[in-house]
Amino acid sequence: MMEVRSIHAFDDNYIWLLGCQGHPEVAIVDPGDAEPVIERIKQEGLKPVAILITHHHGDHTGGIAELLARYPMPVYGPAKEKIRQLSDPLSEGDVVELPGCGLRLEVLDTPGHTRGHICYLGHGALFCGDTLFAAGCGRLFEGSPEQMHASLEKIRALPDQTLIYCAHEYTEANLRFAAVAEPENAQISARLEEVIHLRQRGQDTVPSLLKREKQTNPFLRSEEASLKQAAAAWSGQALNSPAEVFAVVRRWKDALD
Ligand code: ZN
Ligand code: FE
Repeated sequence: MMEVRSIHAFDDNYIWLLGCQGHPEVAIVDPGDAEPVIERIKQEGLKPVAILITHHHGDHTGGIAELLARYPMPVYGPAKEKIRQLSDPLSEGDVVELPGCGLRLEVLDTPGHTRGHICYLGHGALFCGDTLFAAGCGRLFEGSPEQMHASLEKIRALPDQTLIYCAHEYTEANLRFAAVAEPENAQISARLEEVIHLRQRGQDTVPSLLKREKQTNPFLRSEEASLKQAAAAWSGQALNSPAEVFAVVRRWKDALD
C-alpha cells in the first residue's frame, strides 16, 4: 500500500513523498525547495531513493541540486524538457520502479502547461504537477489549448476513484471561478463551501477524487451544455467543439485572475 506524505513549500506548493507504511524509502515529487524536504526526512528517519519531476518550472525543480548533494539518487523527469540534473528521461508509457516496497508508476505525457509536462500514475493515485488542479488546471505557458484539452481528457478517462495529487493549493480560488462559470451547478457551490471551511481551519484540500473533479472542475466539463453556453456568451463566439469550449473557459479564468 502506497503512503503519501505532503510537504508544504513556498506559498501554496505541495511536495509529495511516496513510500509505503513501515518502509523508510521515499520518492520525492517536484521538490521546488530542498529545506522542508530535508527537515521531514530527518524528522522521520526516511531514506530518499528517487526524485520525480513533472515539469521544468523552478517551483518544482529548485531543490534538486541541494537534495542530490546530500542524498545521491536518480532524478526522473520529462524527456522533452531541459532539466540539468535529470538522469532518467521519461515519456508516455514508461514505468518507474522504485526501490523499497515495490512502488510502480506509469508515465503519461500531458503537454499544455509546459511542452513536455508528464504525470505519474500508480496505486490509485495521479501526481499531475501543474496539469490538473483541484477544480482547475494549469495555465497554458507553452502548449496550445488543444494540447491541454487532450491531456485533461486523458486524465478524465482514468477511474473515478483515482486520487488527484496536484502541486498547488489553488482550490478555493478555482472553485470561485467554477461557480461563476457554472452558477447552477449545486455540486460546485457545495464544494466551495466545504473548501472555504477547510481553508479557514488551515487544512489541505488536496488530494481530491477524480470523480469529484468530473463533477465540479470546469476544465473537465467542456461537454456540459450550460458551460458551453456560458463560455459562448462570454466570448461572443459560437463554440463548435469541446476543445474550443475549453480554450475559452481557460481564457475566461485568465482574464479574471
Ligand atoms: Zn508550473
Ligand atoms: Fe507550479
